[in-house]
Amino acid sequence: MNTAVPIISVDGVTKRFAGPHSLMRRLSGKPPLAVHALNNVSLEVYRGETLGIVGESGCGKSTLARCLVRLLDPDEGAIRFEGKDISHLKAGERRGFNRRVQMIFQDPYSSLNPRMTVKQIIGEALSVHKMRPSADIPARIAELLELVRLSQDSAGRYPHEFSGGQRQRIGIARALAVEPDAIVADELVSALDVSVQAQVVNLLLQLQEKLHLTVIFVAHDLRLVRHISHRVAVMYLGQVVELSPAEALFTAPRHPYSKALLDAAPELDPSRRSKVVAARGELPSPLNVPPGCPFASRCPYVFERCRVERPMLTPRGAGQSAACHLTEFGADSAAIPMEGIHS
Ligand code: SF4
Repeated sequence: MNTAVPIISVDGVTKRFAGPHSLMRRLSGKPPLAVHALNNVSLEVYRGETLGIVGESGCGKSTLARCLVRLLDPDEGAIRFEGKDISHLKAGERRGFNRRVQMIFQDPYSSLNPRMTVKQIIGEALSVHKMRPSADIPARIAELLELVRLSQDSAGRYPHEFSGGQRQRIGIARALAVEPDAIVADELVSALDVSVQAQVVNLLLQLQEKLHLTVIFVAHDLRLVRHISHRVAVMYLGQVVELSPAEALFTAPRHPYSKALLDAAPELDPSRRSKVVAARGELPSPLNVPPGCPFASRCPYVFERCRVERPMLTPRGAGQSAACHLTEFGADSAAIPMEGIHS
């Protein structure tokens, strides 16, 4: 892994969506409320690494993933690919960026055209980006099927003839067809059975090493993130609250929310997934983000300063950064008893 050169830099990115526009607000001439999906997010992704992005539903991780591939434009801040702001690319550069940074979506059912065979789906990606002369496309399709461990007779079949895990392999093959530098995988396996999840994640891990890919792995399941990531960004209410090498995060988290997420992780069984809550108390509304620490309403260590001053993501040693007033003087949240933080 080369950690010297960031391939992607996220610099102070804020993204808001229009929220509900109540009759009262309309009558009083006020604009719709804004949903603060991302709030001043900064991080770097290094060439050849896998960066896990974790957090509860609604924390902004999927919005960040969509900003990274230009499906959404930030309202403030910039995302740079190899130093260039991706919002200001010229037409030719944009085509190049679209090829070099590929997204694999959560739902393989809706991201594959049901009327196209696998060979047409992969062949289309190869033709659109002029990856191979027409005569070489069948051989390249065969190569890609082998790479994702699908049988050669898959080429003539339609997406509905495959299982969920196989469909994700088709999605991976389509993404790899254009020889990307980076892949953004948004909840890649969350719709799959646990045994199939491991197969698809292991495949992605092997491909990442073999092809020297940069992978941004967005997930709510910490077990998977630990397995695949070199570093992990923990998000809460549109902000990165901890950014850490994976092993350091799992052994000595520096933010109380990371600790709460870790303690909840053993219960992330698929049958209970919707019932697992990482921390007690209500998640503040993204329509009304508190002025101080976003975790203040759920943190058992909250003190006065937390409610008025937003903690910034700052280095905590050992490659870790955290946004917490409590740990800014070197305290390790792993050493802090977190009883009572869980619901
Ligand atoms: Fe808890 Fe305060 Fe740290 Fe926020 S800044 S996580 S409220 S101790």
